[in-house]
Amino acid sequence: MIERAEKRDIFGALTERERRAKSNTQTNIYRDCIAQEQRGRADGETNAVRFNATSAAAFSHMVKDKARELGISAAGITVVTQDYAYREQSIPGKYAISVAMKMDVHKVNLAPSREAEEEYWRVYYELGEANIKLAEFIRSLGYPAFAHHPLGMGRLLMIPFAIASGLARLGRLGVAMTPEFGPRIRLACVTTDLPLAIDKPPDSHRAEYCDRCLACYRACPVQAIARELTNERGIERYVLDWQRCRSHSNYHNGCGICLKVCPYDRVSGK
Ligand code: SF4
Ligand code: SF4
Repeated sequence: MIERAEKRDIFGALTERERRAKSNTQTNIYRDCIAQEQRGRADGETNAVRFNATSAAAFSHMVKDKARELGISAAGITVVTQDYAYREQSIPGKYAISVAMKMDVHKVNLAPSREAEEEYWRVYYELGEANIKLAEFIRSLGYPAFAHHPLGMGRLLMIPFAIASGLARLGRLGVAMTPEFGPRIRLACVTTDLPLAIDKPPDSHRAEYCDRCLACYRACPVQAIARELTNERGIERYVLDWQRCRSHSNYHNGCGICLKVCPYDRVSGK
């Protein structure tokens, strides 16, 4: 996959127009590869022979080590609840392994640009592949496992599981943020019957630093980011105007300014 993208780089110096066209092509290659290589691999056959670990904690270590080996940047474990199912679908399994992959900060810092847009799609592709392989690994241990793709082709809402597993908190800009990488991540999830030790959820679902920071609110060119908190069904959060954001991003072939300006990875814990 990467090889196919790199082969297009051998022509030497490119004009701005050519560079944009090339980058757009690379984004499309990632989209195509997700559709052609990753759809239909969410589930698969489970090994008939079960591997036995000494404890659920030992299984958790094993799964997190495997996730790291696959290039996943951070992982957290919680129990499955159907409350976070996508559009009344059924989520298989008892445990959810929420995973995040970081984006290349140098490329995100070029936003809004084709390079930044390409980086978002690269991570969708790489994380999609790593997540599928994590589910395959668990099935090889003799336990069912279902891979929920970062593009949302799965059956669940990623952000609530990422928060419940202690992996991330919700930021003002409406996406999950981790202390190490801020909002410059993509999320995926594997749900499984493998007995796992669960991680502690954060004290607050919300990144409280956002109450004192308005960087993304000020930077957004279309005022899609909320200044005030909204209380929805007893949960306080900043509600993003997705329609405004999407129409701006679609018109300009991507945006990501809010991801670029967010200082959360540098200030979390303060
Ligand atoms: S991606 Fe752009 S338009 Fe959307 S919320 Fe962020 S800054 Fe605003
Ligand atoms: S830029 Fe500031 S307010 Fe916006 S999500 Fe990041 S930390 Fe929160």
